Amino acid sequence: LLLTYEPAKRLARMRVQIEANMVGVRMLFEILDHPIELKEAPDAVDLPAGPGLIRLEQVGFSYRNGPKVLKDMDLSFEPGKVTALVGPSGAGKSTILNLIMRLYDPESGRVTIDGHDISKVTFKSLRRRISYVGQDPFLFAGTIRHNIAIGNEEASESEIVEAAKAASAHGFIMSLPNGYDTDVGENGRNLSGGQKQRITVARAFLRNSEILILDEATSSLDSESEAGIRKAIERLAHGRTTITIAHRLSTVAGADQIVVIEDGQVVEQGPPAELLRNDGAYRRLYTYQLLPDAGPLESLARAAGE
Ligand code: ADP
Ligand code: MG
Repeated sequence: LLLTYEPAKRLARMRVQIEANMVGVRMLFEILDHPIELKEAPDAVDLPAGPGLIRLEQVGFSYRNGPKVLKDMDLSFEPGKVTALVGPSGAGKSTILNLIMRLYDPESGRVTIDGHDISKVTFKSLRRRISYVGQDPFLFAGTIRHNIAIGNEEASESEIVEAAKAASAHGFIMSLPNGYDTDVGENGRNLSGGQKQRITVARAFLRNSEILILDEATSSLDSESEAGIRKAIERLAHGRTTITIAHRLSTVAGADQIVVIEDGQVVEQGPPAELLRNDGAYRRLYTYQLLPDAGPLESLARAAGE
């Protein structure tokens, strides 16, 4: 395994370091034997199959010696529905994802999937239920085939191709001289950002887990490849319990449910149209903070008050 990750910016060194480590861990979530900091309960049982109802029940959490990041949070993610988490930076959105993937345990309260406390199940069975697609596609040294099938070693050739087709990746893969046998290079060096993202979406299609966790990209891709990837991700989300940290108006407007997080608490939740009618936190975010789809330039103009 080749584990390289380069933080994109170095604005606040420490902070970037912390974030980079967590992003790395989330990317590896699907293949790690166990989270870095936690041990499996000796009497852990497999999480049984189910519809994928996720609940935070009175969850309190802080990182080591830090302030409270989540404060007695009660929150449900309904099976088969898309929930968008929105809110200011540092509000606790990524932390919610970290707890659902059990990269950390809550200090108080519990996280359940289909009624089962996730701290009491095997890591392997928890991982099998969840797919993660992050903003920074993460590839392993090896071929495209290997990168789609990773964590799914028994997958057949036709299943791999089906997953790539669903992710709109098959076309570009077949246009490469070595097709599925193309070596992706160190962390996908030989592929474009959009191609890498399509491969991680194909990986998630192949996993076919009930729960999908998305961390939306804020810019990075050009708008053409972004539109294609967005469609592929919509297909992927269909019928799964999907949680997305959303920055874009289109993602947020297309969600079944919006949850606004501020300072470790849920301040507003409901369907997008309903929240827009309230003159509340979501409306403020919608007006001033969420990004349009046309890409970084337009969002800069927007931020500058155009
Ligand atoms: P959001 O995703 O809404 O921007 P986060 O959940 O990433 O917010 O962060 C919530 C708070 O927890 C912030 O104050 C952040 O600095 C802190 N934090 C996040 N990750 C870590 C970590 N791994 N170690 C320590 N503090 C962290
Ligand atoms: Mg975050």
